[in-house]
Amino acid sequence: MHHKQLIGLGKFFLKSLKDYPLHSSYIFMKNYSHTAIRRLFSGKISHDVLVFEVTYHCTKNCRGCYIPKEKRKEKTVIDEKFLLSTIKQAKKLGIRNYGFFGGEPISEHAIPVSLMAASENPNLTFIYCTNGEYVAANDVSFFKNYPNIAFFLSIDGFEGTNDNIRGKGSYSSIIEASKKLKDMRRAQSAFVTIRKENIDEVLSEDFLNHLLERGFNYIQWAKYENNANNGEEVPNEELHTKLKGFRDKTMKMPVFQNSDIMGEFFCLDPENSQNKIYLSINGDMRIEREDMSEIIGNLNEKTMKDILDDNFEYS
Ligand code: SF4
Repeated sequence: MHHKQLIGLGKFFLKSLKDYPLHSSYIFMKNYSHTAIRRLFSGKISHDVLVFEVTYHCTKNCRGCYIPKEKRKEKTVIDEKFLLSTIKQAKKLGIRNYGFFGGEPISEHAIPVSLMAASENPNLTFIYCTNGEYVAANDVSFFKNYPNIAFFLSIDGFEGTNDNIRGKGSYSSIIEASKKLKDMRRAQSAFVTIRKENIDEVLSEDFLNHLLERGFNYIQWAKYENNANNGEEVPNEELHTKLKGFRDKTMKMPVFQNSDIMGEFFCLDPENSQNKIYLSINGDMRIEREDMSEIIGNLNEKTMKDILDDNFEYS
């Protein structure tokens, strides 16, 4: 881990002690440090974040969404027993950080199963990656009862750019959702996906200040990728250079920036930083999101340990 990043992470955690309830900060810190220490000491990749595609359903239609439009209409949700037994296996492998992605994981039909998993595993961290629509429009005070849940809110630029990509009204939903979560003292991060259209805008001090003013002190940068090859992807080298330059320039700002584009915060080598496992509703395991990479195994046929052992030198 780069020492400046370590300082940034330290500042972020200190700030989080003020912004979030103590027991929440404790859970997140404990699980993050476990992951970091595990990797630092082994010097190897650990597959230590498990991301569930809990549903493919979503009412929005963002440009370049990697879930096909027809699939986004299906209201199927991940099976409760499958979710719990998978977490049990993953826990044994030392995995303490879990993601609920989609589709949109925060919706009337998908919330119960994820809350159940979070309450059954109070010492593990669960992060929703959300478009903020449900949070903005509904009473979500129940989230106060889940100190081990945090939120990634998808925002891809100032209002004009964001809504051009994610649909009219998306920006307002995210800002409203963020305010609500902040009032409830819930941990949240801006989740910014970088593509050709927004790279110069989002990697600007103006945008960073914009996020800081709205209470975000953690930014997760992601790379836009799409199998359609529609020309919106920023070439890796350009992305890496610009992101690194920006992060170095803004290192002193009170924000923690994390990204696997440049290597996760505890591993700066982008070629060797992939520490996530993605899991489809049907049990298919991948190291990229749905349909973005080869299936490395199916959990209905093999254990997670066997799949990882078959595919990686170490895990
Ligand atoms: S909010 Fe997410 S799942 Fe829904 S259309 Fe947009 S990118 Fe796709």
